[in-house]
Amino acid sequence: FAKESDRTVAIYNGQLDEMIRTEGDILRRLKDSIRQKSLEVWYQPIMLLEDGRYTAAEALVRLPNGKGGHFSAGQVISLAERNGIVEELGDYVLSQACAFMKAHGERLGLKRIGINLSVQQLLVGASADHLLELIRSSGLDPRRVTLEITESILIQSIDRAAEVLEKLRQAGVHIALDDFGVGYSSLNYLSNLPVDILKIDRSLTQQILTSPKQYALLHSIVEMAAINGLLVVAEGVETQAEQEAIAASGAQYIQGYYYARPMPEAEFDRFIKE
Ligand code: C2E
Ligand code: CA
Ligand code: CA
Ligand code: CA
Repeated sequence: FAKESDRTVAIYNGQLDEMIRTEGDILRRLKDSIRQKSLEVWYQPIMLLEDGRYTAAEALVRLPNGKGGHFSAGQVISLAERNGIVEELGDYVLSQACAFMKAHGERLGLKRIGINLSVQQLLVGASADHLLELIRSSGLDPRRVTLEITESILIQSIDRAAEVLEKLRQAGVHIALDDFGVGYSSLNYLSNLPVDILKIDRSLTQQILTSPKQYALLHSIVEMAAINGLLVVAEGVETQAEQEAIAASGAQYIQGYYYARPMPEAEFDRFIKE
């Protein structure tokens, strides 16, 4: 019995070591890649349903894993947040995406570029001034930027966040509420939020064809958005049937693997021109 439990402890410690090693390895790669500017930013097209054109895109970070693939973006962001480097990472992605938009946006017919923001980027220091400074130093008009923040973050820190977001909006930046329609979304507060766009989460999109309740929720969201002057982007659309249901709901924009996955710059360029 004693032997058995010793072994369990040994195995457990081994796995823990492995996990810590892996996290340490990813963190080191992340820091190196920011310094060497080898951290990648990929782009996923967003279609305006009205005319079938890709008028926007979302920038998504990609950290190469050294084996020809990438670490999961969610894992990378959470690691960066826990280790105090998510502002540095966020600045990097914002600068890269703005530079890309400045250089190629017009030629590719893109009206706006969407960039994800972590909570620390929003709540630390003079964040609105800092973010606007970064956007402007790339030469890009802030009106061509959408900053995406998750609903849970906004609601948790609404007072401080609202102040920062108002400043950004005054400069013409659009604010999108990411991952909308899950958890404690409330349609009641939509009129009071400093946002321009709702991004319907994939978990809701995935359920609209099988759940009449979720289908009705989507329609309510689109309706309330329209009343409050907000635009709606449906995320995570993977099939033609979902695409049709989204289009029928009145949502203005659509994003998902059905159309295109996130792509590196050159591939994105080719895709949009086709
Ligand atoms: P998100 O902001 O909700 O981004 C959308 C995620 O859904 C992306 O995952 C995208 O690749 C994926 N996606 C898009 N369409 C589909 C689809 O049809 N089906 C499926 N299964 N997935 C789809 P990704 O790139 O792995 O990013 C995960 C999360 O990591 C993002 O979720 C965002 O919260 C965060 N993230 C990514 N890049 C950044 C960044 O530069 N800064 C910050 N702060 N967060 C980032
Ligand atoms: Ca997003
Ligand atoms: Ca999302
Ligand atoms: Ca998400």
